[in-house]
Amino acid sequence: MAEQDWMSEMRGMVGREYGRVYAWDKVNEPMIRQWCEVMGVTNPLYTDAAYAATTAHGGIVAPPAMLQAWCLEGLHANNYPPGSTTENPYEVLKLLDSQGFASVVAVNSDLGFERYVKPGERLYYTTRLDAVGDEKTTALGTGYFVTLLMSFFAEKDGGDEKVGTLLFRVFKFRPATPVEPAGEASAAAAPKYKRPKPGISDDTRFFWEGCAAGRLRIQRCMGCGTLRHPPGPVCPACQSFDWDYVEAAGTGQIYSFVVMHYPEVPPFDYPNPVALVELDEGVRLIAGLTGIKRDEIRIGQRVKVEFQTFDDALVLPMFRPLEP
Ligand code: ZN
Repeated sequence: MAEQDWMSEMRGMVGREYGRVYAWDKVNEPMIRQWCEVMGVTNPLYTDAAYAATTAHGGIVAPPAMLQAWCLEGLHANNYPPGSTTENPYEVLKLLDSQGFASVVAVNSDLGFERYVKPGERLYYTTRLDAVGDEKTTALGTGYFVTLLMSFFAEKDGGDEKVGTLLFRVFKFRPATPVEPAGEASAAAAPKYKRPKPGISDDTRFFWEGCAAGRLRIQRCMGCGTLRHPPGPVCPACQSFDWDYVEAAGTGQIYSFVVMHYPEVPPFDYPNPVALVELDEGVRLIAGLTGIKRDEIRIGQRVKVEFQTFDDALVLPMFRPLEP
């Protein structure tokens, strides 16, 4: 599609209203109670009928922040109740995908409330494609801010009532191509991203201290002798809390692998091959592969550990093919 064609198609979508998406269930106390439990909300207005009856609300109401929960599709995508629209309010995102603006990052989401909703009310929402901004270039890349506005209503005889809104804005972009620093000055100015560090606990310290010493250590149950990885406090085989470790030979085979291409998150090199290595001792661990081209990686390939230091501080086990 020529640029002006898809651009005018996109601009033509702005302002479009998409039909109703209904809630599977009426506003109800069990969902309210479960939501409050999960979110750690203890306000008795939401869960204690006797207390709620003494308030201005006259009974239990739903927490306003729960608004979006009522009309969710559930476990399976696009599974909406009968009567819901079959239109796709995200068609503009598909159009942007087709033009190479395939990456997405949620920018902001604002909930607005008109009134409380009560058990027994049936909700639905409609969606309006509110805006598509001008082309913008950010650190992530070049693309468009897309704003969708969902309006929630409660069904009512004599006219449905608006109960709240959800504004949802995403940035659809074409990722920035990494630019080589022009010289020392720009290299110094560019942010230096470091590898994320592992969380180290009493159960895992031996492993990381081993890496720092160039040793691959595997946790061993002192009750039954079973080896396990990743390290944990309890033996899954015999439930013993007693453990020590053995030093692995460092050899094994590629049990499975993935090659990460995208998104390119610094400071990793791409493509980034990551393997599930089965050690000769029988346990498996996840680690980066080194010294191999991505299309040469094979299941069953023999590999050997080597330790690489990142950011002058973090030592990670990496695996290199034993034979090219
Ligand atoms: Zn055990």
